[in-house]
Amino acid sequence: MTFRFEEENYRNVYVLEDYYCTNPFCDCNHATVSLYDEEHDRRISFLLNFNKTHGPLPNHPKLEPLENEIVKGFVKDLRDEAWTLLRQRYLEAKGYGERNPMSYLVFESGRYVNYMEMFPKNNLLLDFSQDGQRYFAEDSYEMDPRNGAKDARLAFYKFDPKEDKQPPLFNYTYFLDEKLREEEDKKLGGDELNILAALNQFVPNLADVVKSRYKQVKQLGKELMEASPKTGIATAKINRNDLCPCGSGKKYKKCCALKLN
Ligand SMILES: [Zn+2]
Ligand SMILES: [Zn+2]
Repeated sequence: MTFRFEEENYRNVYVLEDYYCTNPFCDCNHATVSLYDEEHDRRISFLLNFNKTHGPLPNHPKLEPLENEIVKGFVKDLRDEAWTLLRQRYLEAKGYGERNPMSYLVFESGRYVNYMEMFPKNNLLLDFSQDGQRYFAEDSYEMDPRNGAKDARLAFYKFDPKEDKQPPLFNYTYFLDEKLREEEDKKLGGDELNILAALNQFVPNLADVVKSRYKQVKQLGKELMEASPKTGIATAKINRNDLCPCGSGKKYKKCCALKLN
């Protein structure tokens, strides 16, 4: 969205540009807003939080006092309809991300990425229960097709509807090779082994699931590696290869730089 507004005290006209993170698994709850002063080719960029506060862009110099005043006034005067509109566009961006994981996925050698983050449409969750307690596991994979470590990382969690995500009960390296897996099992304690056994019971073809997801991820990694950078995106004065100011940890060009206009 780009709209003009006049800022009273300084008589500048700004064009508002809004950017959003499309990662549906990221609850950033803000827009990155840039107030562009065309006449002087200057830009004031900041995070606009949906709790009606604002903040600086991470990894960027602080705003000058005058810029800060302008932003404060802007946030204070922002009408309810505008908040609603921005929130709608935030949800739109997340919806876009859900349909196009390539819009937020970044090829990163060596990092294990949650499978659901790469394939949000997949609905086979690794849920299970044992002795009346519900658990779930999350599987992560490394994208780099040149890296030969044939494994996945499983993190096991207790399912608790009241609590937001807790730290994992334990982590387990799931080797595709059965012999290596048996070796790995020896490192687990009794309780952990029982929980792992319960998962295997609920998902009897777990080895096949992990193997096919592993292949799928390596293929995605290959595509991401070969993909040329997206074109036609923003011209903000944030370097496209910098870390995104929204704090998502992704490169700017793969995150909030993706404008939806
Ligand atoms: Zn985000
Ligand atoms: Zn971002």
